[in-house]
Amino acid sequence: MSAADPTRSHGPGGVHPIARLPEEWEAYFEANGERAFRGAQVFRWIHQRGELDPAKMSDLSKAWRVRLSEEGLAPPFELVEVFRSRDGTRKLLLELVDGGRVECVLIPMSKESDEDDESPATSGSSAEPPTDRRRKMTLCISTQLGCAMGCVFCASGQAGLVRGLGAAEIAAQVLEARRHLDDGEVLSNLVYMGMGEPLHHYDETARSIRLLSHGEGAGFGLRRITVSTVGLVPGIRRLGEDFGGKVGLALSLHAPSDDVRQKIIPMNSRFGVRDLVQSLREYPLPRRRRITIEYTLISGVNDQPAHARALANLLRPLSVKINLIPMNVIDASSLAAPSDEGVERFRDLLVQAGYSCFLRRRRGDDVAAACGQLALAERLVRPSASS
Ligand code: SAH
Repeated sequence: MSAADPTRSHGPGGVHPIARLPEEWEAYFEANGERAFRGAQVFRWIHQRGELDPAKMSDLSKAWRVRLSEEGLAPPFELVEVFRSRDGTRKLLLELVDGGRVECVLIPMSKESDEDDESPATSGSSAEPPTDRRRKMTLCISTQLGCAMGCVFCASGQAGLVRGLGAAEIAAQVLEARRHLDDGEVLSNLVYMGMGEPLHHYDETARSIRLLSHGEGAGFGLRRITVSTVGLVPGIRRLGEDFGGKVGLALSLHAPSDDVRQKIIPMNSRFGVRDLVQSLREYPLPRRRRITIEYTLISGVNDQPAHARALANLLRPLSVKINLIPMNVIDASSLAAPSDEGVERFRDLLVQAGYSCFLRRRRGDDVAAACGQLALAERLVRPSASS
């Protein structure tokens, strides 16, 4: 029997073991003459306890442990290295079974990004102490190896798309990252803001959200998960429909008009600024929740007062908060962030126009973990994997 392929949820052997939902596990066990409750048991081993080695699933029979391992239940990557930043950010470099390398980044949560939170963090285990006192961490996860979107200011897409990650590979980043929390920390939020475009890869992204939000598993409430997109309108619509608007949405807008956006985001020729605003209006957001607008400030491109005013007008019909990110320099481009004064001026104009506007401090840039730097310092694929 050939082992399941972690790079996709569905292969010849059915759904990959790590990507199976409890009901799929139940159906699997029943089809194999075993009682259905084993399904929830194995799902909990994987997603609640983070155990990906069937040999360690002590309440399963020896025969089942062997069988699950033959079917490909195993970690879908190896941890290569953990880079620790002075500011507490931790970047995990992971090597996938086919040699590709991706990263995910643990980031201490700032007060301001916490301000929309209404419910306490779920820890996934009732044995843990209350979460309130613990330091909240956000995990930034990757959905693709490389990226096809080609935004000119972003490092992830410079080499193009190698492949999408399977839901198993996406969800396992969370299971791995939980092992790298320090004492007194809790993994509170997930953001799909690492390498790749999550909505370009909708099915695996959506399945990973179902896995990670399941109450028998890691138990992240949907409101603690945010998907960031370059603006693929059909994907935004599907996400809204499939999760009832409860999954947080972040739009990488970066410009108030098509002529500016076109210069930095090739995908804007498919879905322009008006389409994007319309799709955000239609997103079935629960009351009192806001969509996040990401705006990377690039000197001389989108950072002028006129841009801020146009942005304020454009966003008027929406319930949003704005994250300003001074561009992190990448080797592939000569683009750069405006001066601090330029950034402040831009923010002040938006605040005066009545918007909640946050300046995203550069996190982890001493370990190349800041936005757009993922995988820049690392080759996407080991030389030995291609030669
Ligand atoms: N593809 C998704 C998620 C990945 S990028 C998206 O486009 O939203 C996460 C965020 O980092 C996006 O807002 C992206 O535009 C921004 N970003 C990418 N490169 C950057 C850079 N060099 N400096 C600042 N922000 C950057």
